[in-house]
Amino acid sequence: MKRRYCIAGNWKMNPPGAAGGLLLEMREKLDEITAVDLIICPPFTALDNARQLFQNFRITIGAQNLFWEDKGAYTGEISASMLSAIGVEYVIIGHSERRQYFDDTDETVNKRMKAALKAGLKPILCLGETESEREDGITFEVVRKQFRGALEGIEIKELKDFMIAYEPVWAIGTGKTAKPADAQEVHELLRKLLAEKYTFEFSESTRILYGGSVKPDNAEGLFRQPDIDGALIGGASLSTVSFRQIAEAAEFLTTNEHE
Ligand code: PEP
Repeated sequence: MKRRYCIAGNWKMNPPGAAGGLLLEMREKLDEITAVDLIICPPFTALDNARQLFQNFRITIGAQNLFWEDKGAYTGEISASMLSAIGVEYVIIGHSERRQYFDDTDETVNKRMKAALKAGLKPILCLGETESEREDGITFEVVRKQFRGALEGIEIKELKDFMIAYEPVWAIGTGKTAKPADAQEVHELLRKLLAEKYTFEFSESTRILYGGSVKPDNAEGLFRQPDIDGALIGGASLSTVSFRQIAEAAEFLTTNEHE
């Protein structure tokens, strides 16, 4: 069974300055894409504007992180309820840049997951191995540990419309994409882990995105894999042309029934 593709853009700390122009361009260029779900995750400062601009359009919005406490003396942090109050639907959790530069661990990822779910946000849980972990042959072990840590104590009934993004760290922002067959192997493992922890039906219906230097010229090969249900895109999501071309690759496969 193939799931509906989802193409999500992670703008990270971009664009510099105001994001209104890029948001408007995305709205204009992406509205004809109907067979694929589209999410844009701009910086916090642009979320409210994005929500207003995308109202009655097909793009939904996501945040790139959240703090697990709901309120209080946590200077500089943003809580899940603050995001849901302004109409944010999705939130990226556990991105490797958060793990690498801001000390996110499996434990804090788990706390963020719980806070997001409690506030009704839909998490996009990121996990993936580093280059040295891949070279050491421990990719599956690393991914399994991150999966279990992130979902510790979370029940199936809490996980509505949750997604996983497999993002090998060595492929993020480097131009090195995982070979479709290598990515598929990890997606298959994740699907198995979902079935073991939850149910077969849940595992079959949960979308698992791939992330790591996805570009218009490599997207279709990845999307043809049976367990790759779309992409989380960094660099290429900052251009309406490339983001649209990637979405079109998914739309093409949808309308041509994955021959
Ligand atoms: C990301 O940051 O999630 C990502 C996949 O980045 P890029 O597409 O630039 O590799």
